[in-house]
Amino acid sequence: MSNPKSNLWESVIGLEIHVQLATQSKIFSSSPSKFGVEQNTQASIIDLGLPGVLPVINKKAIEMAVKFGCSINAEITEKAIFARKNYFYPDLPKGYQISQLDNPIVGKGSVMIDFEGDEKEIGITRAHLEEDAGKSIHDKYKSFTAIDLNRAGTPLLEIVSEPDLRSSKEAVSYLKKIHSIVTFLGISDGDMSQGSLRCDANVSIRKKGEEKFGNRTEIKNINSFKFVEKAIEYEIKRQTKVVESGEEIIQETRLYDSNKNETRSMRSKEHANDYRYFPEPDLIPLKISSEYIQSVKEKLPELPEQKIKRFCSNYLINEYESKILNSSKEMSVFFETIAKSVKDVKTAAKWIVGDFLAILNKNNKNISESNISSEDLIDLFKNLEENKISNPAAKKILEVLWNQDLTVQEIIKKENLEQISNEDELLKIIMKIIEENPKQHNQYKSGKDKLFGFFVGQVMKETKGSADPKVVNEILRKELNQ
Ligand code: ADP
Ligand code: MG
Repeated sequence: MSNPKSNLWESVIGLEIHVQLATQSKIFSSSPSKFGVEQNTQASIIDLGLPGVLPVINKKAIEMAVKFGCSINAEITEKAIFARKNYFYPDLPKGYQISQLDNPIVGKGSVMIDFEGDEKEIGITRAHLEEDAGKSIHDKYKSFTAIDLNRAGTPLLEIVSEPDLRSSKEAVSYLKKIHSIVTFLGISDGDMSQGSLRCDANVSIRKKGEEKFGNRTEIKNINSFKFVEKAIEYEIKRQTKVVESGEEIIQETRLYDSNKNETRSMRSKEHANDYRYFPEPDLIPLKISSEYIQSVKEKLPELPEQKIKRFCSNYLINEYESKILNSSKEMSVFFETIAKSVKDVKTAAKWIVGDFLAILNKNNKNISESNISSEDLIDLFKNLEENKISNPAAKKILEVLWNQDLTVQEIIKKENLEQISNEDELLKIIMKIIEENPKQHNQYKSGKDKLFGFFVGQVMKETKGSADPKVVNEILRKELNQ
């Protein structure tokens, strides 16, 4: 697609994020909510809404929603109301979804996002509890669509943002922020590849300086950070082209096709009144007391922002490193396990943020898929601290740790990487080298300082690079001047 005169236009984006809550059981029944079990074995008569059944709200799901509300400084409603949202779809055979319309459990709040070195506040309109539908599987059979109802009744928290985002990159930054909040809170595993976190992106454009919003389209069910960026990017370009050719944007629901990297029209936009919402007759309004909210607040775990600050002050690392080390819950646990077992945490942090993450990135893996464990790194850093290995040797060990199933000790032995820092041993070698090179020694003494490097080189050659350079320097300085 040709590049439109994009500097004329401003994009406006709001996200609706669906977070699957990590409860043991469904939101209104006691059936388990595991991922990946045999199809159609995990939906009970309640999840399927058979006649005569009664839903019972899962207390854990409420607690998780309140936790989220507290962590974004939102108002928590005193009286949450559930509503039926009526529509039929093959993966929703009961014909309605229990959701919330008025009086959602979490009201207005906000989060700060990092953007181009600055911070920006993004408003959150609401977050409500609802049940998930089943899943349509289109690629299992050639001429049928299969339905798996296991997911029916899985608790979701839908988090709706204000239209405060102004670019695809801001949208990704916001989505990452929500991902990190819910995973640090432990209310979701956040696994986007399994659908635990997915979002709808609402996109419109307007002339720069214009106050009124343009017509928006809604791109459904995006399940990766990369696709959010690409889908929005595509949609902004498409809309700009439409508007510049003098046509209007049709308010509609679109689908993002990641194979073709384009959005396609699915259906015209539905409105709240299309769903004939009414209060769920089988569930009474849920009262949430201020004492309850207080008790949840007191139990809130440390959030990413607090962790970033604490790492800086506890471990004397800089903010950049701290942010990277808190970029995910796994990363932060990984780092703290190491921080608790080594002496020089600052150096350990530099190695993790630098060489270790470089290996992960090079192999396109995230921390939970790392071939190198925190125990491996603790071993490595201890060897460095005790001067048993040099920095280049540590780099080499990292490479081997990634590629082979060996321990740090085994690699040091196998590759002969043990560093000689024993002074007596090094002194012997140095004396021998000085004796063997009387000419250079004399030149050095008569002022040719550059020859110092020559002697360091000789020692390194003699020890096959395993001499501790600090100790070598010290001894050489002394002995060469004799
Ligand atoms: P609906 O429930 O019909 O999808 P909402 O009013 O709840 O509509 O809005 C859903 C999302 O759309 C919110 O995240 C909101 O910020 C966003 N949004 C609303 N208007 C616009 C607009 N003109 N451009 C972009 N996003 C918008
Ligand atoms: Mg919507």
